[in-house]
Amino acid sequence: MANKNIKRIMILAPHTDDGELGCGGSIARFVEEGNEVYYVAFSTAEQSLPKGFPPNTLELEVKAATKVLGIPPENLVIFKHEVRKLNYIRQEILEELIMLRKHIRPSLIFLPSPNDLHQDHHTVSEEGVRAFKNSSILGYELLWNNISFHTQSFVILSQHHVNTKLSALKKYKSQHHRKYLTKEFITGWAKTRGTQINADFAEAFEVIRWII
Ligand SMILES: [Zn+2]
Repeated sequence: MANKNIKRIMILAPHTDDGELGCGGSIARFVEEGNEVYYVAFSTAEQSLPKGFPPNTLELEVKAATKVLGIPPENLVIFKHEVRKLNYIRQEILEELIMLRKHIRPSLIFLPSPNDLHQDHHTVSEEGVRAFKNSSILGYELLWNNISFHTQSFVILSQHHVNTKLSALKKYKSQHHRKYLTKEFITGWAKTRGTQINADFAEAFEVIRWII
């Protein structure tokens, strides 16, 4: 008999690395607790790569990073839409999400906060809510893109979950120039969210839908 406590969880990442940044520690914890985690990326952002990196760099990096988090390769879905143009193909993205909903039937979805300013993040957030409105949905923060963010729910993390998140993010060699990809920032961010709820570390989420 299927264990009712095991959840099927889906992470929607507009670009490879958004899921690791927004909920990498939580993914590490969910996998450790035996849940089935799926990761869906919508763009490998070939046009945004720094000079000198081959076009498939971010595809290889997301494969390596999700492996570190413990997501099985067969649970990783990569779409190769053009970066910054996801809003041009909203309907296509919605149809992909509906197809995934039918095939995977996740009960808990993580997607970018509806308050995320990045055009691709905003599109995946809106179409994700549209496709999964009958499931529980939590919005993750990417605080360099959020003018406001409501810390309505938390996943408590241990140091080793944060370490796993850091190891996963290390796989993104092409993104090492980003200000937010430092050990100090990622650790401090998890410490900040933990401190809000008297825990050592946490990740915070907006409650978009919650079904019990
Ligand atoms: Zn992104």
